Amino acid sequence: MANSAKNSKYDAIVIGGGHNGLVNAAYLAKAGKKVVVLERRHVLGGAAVTEEVFPGFKFSVCSYVVSLLRPEIIRDLDLPRHGFEVLPLDGTFTPMPSGDYLWRMNDHGKSRREIARHSKLDAEAYEEFGKAMLQMCRFVKPILGMTPPDPTTLNPRELLKLLFLGRRFKDLSLDDKYNQVQLMTMSAVDFLDRWFETDVLKATMSASGIIGTFLGVRSPGTAYVLLHHYMGEIDGAFRSWGFSRGGTGAISAAIAGAAIEAGAEIRTKAGIAEILVKDGKAKGVVLENGDELHADIVSSSVDPNRTFLKMIGPGHLPGDFLDEVRRYKFRGSSGKVNLALDALPEFKCLPGSGPHLRGAISISPSVEYMERAYDDAKYGQYSRRPYMDVVIPSLTDPSVAPPGKHVMSCFVQYAPYKLKDGNWDEKREAFGDTVIDTLSEYAPNIKNIIIGRQVVTPLDLEREFGLTEGNIFQGELSLEQLFFLRPVPGWAQYRTPIRNLYMCGSATHPGGGIMGAPGRLAAVEILKDWGAS
Ligand SMILES: Cc1cc2nc3c(=O)[nH]c(=O)nc-3n(C[C@H](O)[C@H](O)[C@H](O)COP(=O)(O)OP(=O)(O)OC[C@H]3O[C@@H](n4cnc5c(N)ncnc54)[C@H](O)[C@@H]3O)c2cc1C
Repeated sequence: MANSAKNSKYDAIVIGGGHNGLVNAAYLAKAGKKVVVLERRHVLGGAAVTEEVFPGFKFSVCSYVVSLLRPEIIRDLDLPRHGFEVLPLDGTFTPMPSGDYLWRMNDHGKSRREIARHSKLDAEAYEEFGKAMLQMCRFVKPILGMTPPDPTTLNPRELLKLLFLGRRFKDLSLDDKYNQVQLMTMSAVDFLDRWFETDVLKATMSASGIIGTFLGVRSPGTAYVLLHHYMGEIDGAFRSWGFSRGGTGAISAAIAGAAIEAGAEIRTKAGIAEILVKDGKAKGVVLENGDELHADIVSSSVDPNRTFLKMIGPGHLPGDFLDEVRRYKFRGSSGKVNLALDALPEFKCLPGSGPHLRGAISISPSVEYMERAYDDAKYGQYSRRPYMDVVIPSLTDPSVAPPGKHVMSCFVQYAPYKLKDGNWDEKREAFGDTVIDTLSEYAPNIKNIIIGRQVVTPLDLEREFGLTEGNIFQGELSLEQLFFLRPVPGWAQYRTPIRNLYMCGSATHPGGGIMGAPGRLAAVEILKDWGAS
């Protein structure tokens, strides 16, 4: 990475080299601004990172699948030219303790036949459900690309945004209107209950509703998170997820490539200790090594806790704003176990290394299983039998493992940040054992084929990746923290009470996931204030 002289003056300093910080920098640099990105870690990407944890085994240490990255960003930054490539993730395979399984594939006809094996009625409903969700995605999609309106002002520009949303809602069919309201208010399982009767189908579909939240599949509000995960789009097809060739770090590397090409400077091992504020205006930053950098604006892609409570000295922010920041909910609930494998797992219910191993393998055999996993977390324990979303990217992208070997990524819930007994440093390996024990109930050979294991707890996510309380989305995606309420009411337009200080990470609208939208939208607002757009 390029290094430049100390004490330089920039147009913009971007704090954090996660994918949103990089998107933000790329757009600002493309607009002709002199930009520097300062990343605390030795490697770029934040939660979208690839690291060689064991020699020859490259892991997407945190995020592992992609689909939410906004198409306009892929186009504007010409990311394929910088190495961005998505490989297909073929469906979701859910093994069941009974010895049966549910395998939803990308091929619609095959999925339909598979669901019909469990329930003919559900096979019919699945078709209708897909159509209804497509309508919901179409309704919500423009919202992902817009700065949230401020509903408290009479500013004509804000009123127009509200009118635009009102019109879109009015134009929905009556059924779609009901669906939309239900998605915003119901639990994932209650919503799915309206469509389906097969327990395992509801369990595995409801899992998308709890990712990154401290809520259960029966908690109101989780239906929206389900929609958030449906929104992903690859080449215009909604609900498709894929692997990034080279792991999710390759996405960050491609964005960094576009930013550097546009003239941005990027520094790693450059943690920020303080944001300099004078007369109510951001003036620059102080690095952890004591260096000072100055700029006209500072754009922070780290969460509000770090930005406002750790990097800004006392007296610069209004008390009511700080109260809202303190109320912002993180409540991390996820962990990750990354495995280096000598061979492939053999599932009891479908032995062999068939295409079922190329998609997601979901340990979500029943609604009761999912809810019990949450029960443990509610009382301060990691789930004794957790929900897991498992992928083996090396089957699709052999570049991430030595020949004949594999990498397996297990995303796990629940792993509550706050444990009732003990701490995560003491519990890390026991948690890893629980994950392997759970998996071995379905794939008994797993214990014999593991040659390396990395256990990532919520505390590791906080310490290593700067994610407060280990929340994977820089703050829960719960309804009260979305849209014009994210991160806090009144400050959802990427600006902050300090002039020239902006927010551009997942803690802003539209939230977490490898989306890039916060980074882009923040750049749009920054350039507006600069009078450059
Ligand atoms: C375990 C896990 C699994 C996930 N799975 C998926 C998935 O499969 N698909 C998906 O779409 N999303 C997934 N996500 C969510 C997604 O990865 C994140 O929402 C997204 O990557 C966040 O990007 P960001 O740029 O907003 O923030 P971050 O990635 O958090 O970037 C912030 C950056 O700021 C840096 N930083 C922190 N403090 C400082 C400081 N003081 N000075 C300088 N730099 C600092 C951090 O090191 C980090 O690089 C997952 C996340 C996790 C943690």
